[in-house]
Amino acid sequence: MLVQLVLGFLIFLSIGACDSRDAGPLYAAWRVEIVDPASGVVHVHGEIPVMVGTTTLALQFRDLKRHPQALLALTARSGGRELVVDHITEDADATHRIDVTGIVDPVVIEYTINPTFFPPGGSEKYPSDARSRVVDGVGVVRTGSLLPTMTDGNRNARVSFSLPADWVAVTPWRSVDTGVFTIPASEWGQVDYLGLGPFETLELPMGKDIVRIGVLGVDSEIDVDAVAGLLEFHRELAGSPPVDPGPRTVLLVPQKFMRGGAAGARSTVQIADAGVLAHELLHWWVHSDLTTAEAKWFTEGFTNYYGILAAQEVGLLSQDEVTECFADLNAEMRYLERDRPRSLQQVSEGYTREARSRRLVYSKGTLFAELLERELRLQDRALSEFMRAVLTESRAGLNNKDLRETLANVYGNLADARFIANVIAGEALPDMGFGPATGRSGCARYLPEHGDQPFEREREP
Ligand SMILES: [Zn+2]
Repeated sequence: MLVQLVLGFLIFLSIGACDSRDAGPLYAAWRVEIVDPASGVVHVHGEIPVMVGTTTLALQFRDLKRHPQALLALTARSGGRELVVDHITEDADATHRIDVTGIVDPVVIEYTINPTFFPPGGSEKYPSDARSRVVDGVGVVRTGSLLPTMTDGNRNARVSFSLPADWVAVTPWRSVDTGVFTIPASEWGQVDYLGLGPFETLELPMGKDIVRIGVLGVDSEIDVDAVAGLLEFHRELAGSPPVDPGPRTVLLVPQKFMRGGAAGARSTVQIADAGVLAHELLHWWVHSDLTTAEAKWFTEGFTNYYGILAAQEVGLLSQDEVTECFADLNAEMRYLERDRPRSLQQVSEGYTREARSRRLVYSKGTLFAELLERELRLQDRALSEFMRAVLTESRAGLNNKDLRETLANVYGNLADARFIANVIAGEALPDMGFGPATGRSGCARYLPEHGDQPFEREREP
């Protein structure tokens, strides 16, 4: 692969700007520039080679569909000539089409964009709900909120950064030179989180690759060994390394900047909380397209469960803290189901639209895993057998029928009645003997004493 990249780079250099229509890998060169972080916007300059026979260059901004106004200006030119850009932001694609008929020279794109992104359930009222934004002092930017894919085929890319003094770019990309990164066409368009700011960086070898840990403004017991321990736990659980090879990044940021965390294909960003970090890291195996929407309880609930266990295993959570976390999740589940219990399938389907369903995916999903584990243990079995069976093969789009089949393949009918009762039918989970909620664990967002207002963790004095 490296030979191919280097060769591609040489070909690019040798053909220069005179004829990019030759065969061979084509490189798009992107420069990401932040001049005034407090403005929240990023300026991007791209030089895109045009492929033979192309008449339209279509740039698609993945996250713009929901807020097309974030793209402040986009111009295109080639060989000194201004090109006409069709801004089609109203359609489902948020695509910008450029007529390149007869164009030989690379197309030079310039735009200014606000890369702020809120996940389902995030509210613009609370800036720290955002999973991508640039502020005075730091930026965490989601690739899908910054850079476009090309609908006629992605090119290999080189990305460089022009940032304020003392800022560095922490990315999950291969770096060829300080501050210059290469991304193969096959990985372009993958969603990842880039850390831009005065990050302190640590490096952790992982097989042939490296995990870059970027820490900014947090004082935490999470160090290289802790990240290594969590990754080892997950690798054991899955029975294999994460699917995507390549460098990775782990960004630790202050809670006032980001509440919670997020995972990309080879990156995570989160507060310096052991449970949240362990959860996000496990998404490198339990990624969001592993299941369909109806089985979100697995990708989020089971990830949450094993995140808690992993954090305990490496000594970042004590047994008491784990018990406190389960008690808070249990109280949250009982509160959200106070009128009637819901099936895991039903809450999974409501995940993107409704806060109650979304939180039940986490709280009930986590406790369902703990319940299955307890019931399997009585039969001298373990839930990890099921996890490994699901994660061993690289699969996507699993629905509840597929998961039930895997469960039956692993345990016969030992767990089938439990699956039916709580995934398909909306039975309440039995009382599992957790103590009263304290609200201190940070695991729950809703508790009766706070009513229908999501609350932040109550800090110990
Ligand atoms: Zn998650």
